[in-house]
Amino acid sequence: MSDRGKNKKKSTVKVGGMTCASCAQTIEKSLRKIKGVDEASVNLATEKASIEYDPDQVDEEDFRETIENAGYEAIDEAEADRGTEEVSLKTTGMTCASCADNVEKAISKLEGVYNANVNLATEKARVEYRPDLVSISDMRKAVEEAGYGVESEEKPEKEVEEVEKARKRTLVAWGASIPIIVWMVPEMIFGIVWPNRLIFDLGMTLLAIPVLFWVGRHTYQNALKTVAHGSANMNVLIFLGSFAAFITGPAKLVLFPEILNYAGVGAMIMAFHLTGRYIEAKARGRASEAIKRLMELEADTARVIDDGEEKEVPVDRVEQGDLLKVRPGEKIPTDGVVIEGESSVDESMATGESTPVHKEKGDEVIGSTVNQEGALTIEATKVGRDTFLSKVIEMVEEAQGTKVPIQKFADKVTSYFVPSIITITIITVILWLTIPNTIDFLASALEGTLPWINLSLSPAMLAIFAGIATLVIACPCALGLATPTALMVGSGKGAENGILIQKGEAIQSLKDVDTVVFDKTGTMTEGKMTLTDIVSSPNSPKDLEGKTLQLAASAEYNSEHPIGRAIVDGARNNDLKLKEPEKFEAFGGKGVKARLDGMKVIVGNRNFLKEEGINPSPIEDNLEEWEEEGKTVILVSVDGELVGAVAVADTLKKDTVPAIGKLKEMGLETVMITGDNSKTANAIAEKVGISRVLAEVLPDEKADEIRRLQEEGKKVAMVGDGINDAPALTQASVGIAIGTGTDIAIEAGEVVLVRGELSGVVSAVELSRKTFDKIKQNLWWAFGYNVTMIPLAVLGIMHPLFAEAAMAMSSVTVVTNANRLKGIDIDFGLK
Ligand code: ADP
Ligand code: MG
Repeated sequence: MSDRGKNKKKSTVKVGGMTCASCAQTIEKSLRKIKGVDEASVNLATEKASIEYDPDQVDEEDFRETIENAGYEAIDEAEADRGTEEVSLKTTGMTCASCADNVEKAISKLEGVYNANVNLATEKARVEYRPDLVSISDMRKAVEEAGYGVESEEKPEKEVEEVEKARKRTLVAWGASIPIIVWMVPEMIFGIVWPNRLIFDLGMTLLAIPVLFWVGRHTYQNALKTVAHGSANMNVLIFLGSFAAFITGPAKLVLFPEILNYAGVGAMIMAFHLTGRYIEAKARGRASEAIKRLMELEADTARVIDDGEEKEVPVDRVEQGDLLKVRPGEKIPTDGVVIEGESSVDESMATGESTPVHKEKGDEVIGSTVNQEGALTIEATKVGRDTFLSKVIEMVEEAQGTKVPIQKFADKVTSYFVPSIITITIITVILWLTIPNTIDFLASALEGTLPWINLSLSPAMLAIFAGIATLVIACPCALGLATPTALMVGSGKGAENGILIQKGEAIQSLKDVDTVVFDKTGTMTEGKMTLTDIVSSPNSPKDLEGKTLQLAASAEYNSEHPIGRAIVDGARNNDLKLKEPEKFEAFGGKGVKARLDGMKVIVGNRNFLKEEGINPSPIEDNLEEWEEEGKTVILVSVDGELVGAVAVADTLKKDTVPAIGKLKEMGLETVMITGDNSKTANAIAEKVGISRVLAEVLPDEKADEIRRLQEEGKKVAMVGDGINDAPALTQASVGIAIGTGTDIAIEAGEVVLVRGELSGVVSAVELSRKTFDKIKQNLWWAFGYNVTMIPLAVLGIMHPLFAEAAMAMSSVTVVTNANRLKGIDIDFGLK
């Protein structure tokens, strides 16, 4: 809040028409001349002018005018950015995969929509569109015309309400259906019609009315709209089945006294259907619990220190740079760094790590984690939608909106399902009506086996019976739920354990992986190197003798590489005076070159110095000894003469060894890839238990090495830090990026491990295997069920009631089965 009072603002304006650096300068000059402008700089490459100014005196409009007057274009950013946008709509009324298909088609048809992806389990439609061509209300209209709805805003309470409504409907449906059963069973089995035919038939029909036309009206309305739109879905099947059954009631009463009354059966079909929907809604709610729990974790208020005074404000008022006080036991309001104090913080919600992590000055803290015993003062570094937790929620939601490849197959099947079923039903009815001989044959074969098979029925009655059962049994809703529910539970479970799956695809590709490649520095090791040894070359120029470390550290003065930092820190600890070099250049995977007091200093690995014609033979014995200990050797030369060498060593992460062991046990080949010397690399690989080493690989060659492994026929997962390993992560079938602190926005990784530890790799592989198993089980179950039940229904062996009960059960089974993923063990106690 420090700058708030001073009236300073920074804005950027996009500039067009600049052709050279002098144009940029011209604009800069004219902007600076404006009264109230403190500073202006124009970047030719990004075509942006950034201006610091006093908003009381000038505004962005003045800048645009100035730029235009200088002969250039001031582009309205909002206008310029008008490319595609993405929106996630919460849809309602989808009951099965073919509904998702219908919604997807309805939205895709609109002009300006590039891509629409509808997920049945989350009930969300993700739409990529051009906002200048099509609006969200256009999409809403299209969805409504197709027979579904779009909720205006997503509220978790809505879901609870939805479940509650479904429960009430189910209760009403059974309130009428139970008397029907009690009344109907004696008739079905013993032919007892109580008290007489007329009251029996009238009563059945009247009891069925509220079930079908009151609590079942949503199903009916949706079915009719869908039919009017020229398509079909599960509601259409339920509508046709239950309505055909119901209509026999009035028909018998008014027109055809000889037929059987199935009105009660119609009511029960609807009762089962509503029950299935209710249980499904409840189970779905549980599946998305993970995200809801994450959202609930957010802190409500923060204590901002303003002018030395603590003020409690709502957390959304906190701005970047604010100083916040966090007392013991309180939630840390937002992402930040510790400025003062010392404590431990329970980060389990973010990383899955159950032991509190020690924090002191300079350490990063994650918003919404819980401060333990000490008081901390932190500076907010990320707020609002940029925080770690918001990013996690966004990522999980996005992943849940994507599709696992296997689902494409299920989608294809479902899109043919409903039309095929209606066709099969029509054929069934026609056959039953036209081939009485077949019926006689079947009926006599089955006579007496099942109580509801009644030889004396007319062909028309049997046709209706078989037709209704076929319609009802064939609903493909279990098929539509099979994949998305498993993905939802799996990715939620991952998020709670610090494994963020960015795309559904990763679930499928990760379970097929047979080779895991690990980057060495920062992935297998902590990446925090320390200086361990120094040696001077006997042939070193006399005036530089004993100055190996000082020279190396001065050359690495501005290096950001962990090796460079280790050398600089080592020199400082030895109280050496360092000099900033006049010139400095870093060579990735090799070393650095620097100019110091006119000398050309080269610091780097063997290969790098060999390129300069420098031979380390005078100190070869020392170097080999260090390398065999797994230390990294860095040579130092001045003006083409070897001065000496230093060694740095890294520590392995605490779970690297057990994690590698577990992966091998799971049947995976483990490979280490590094730019380090092969002797050093092999020494470490041996310690860790890694079988294959790819050493002395330059950073830009890592992706090629992955490709080479893939050409050997291996399915490769690459584990790296995501910064300099990005190309290799992208090349691999699955890129697993190791997150650092609160920075998890790693594009290159399909999977991001929040906690930088390798046990996360084991968990991710296990999670993908288990989740995919569930998907397969679910698909088998859904398919198997439809394939075996449809013939029974067509043959008239299946009572429509059992058909409906089995149908409802199959969706419930699929969702429940997916939910069982929550209980699995994915960390094997490695954490
Ligand atoms: P890794 O593949 O293990 O992550 P890098 O590709 O970053 O390692 O570096 C590979 C090798 O290049 C290092 O082992 C070291 O020998 C050398 N190297 C890279 N940067 C530097 C540096 N700043 N100073 C000295 N040596 C360096
Ligand atoms: Mg590295």
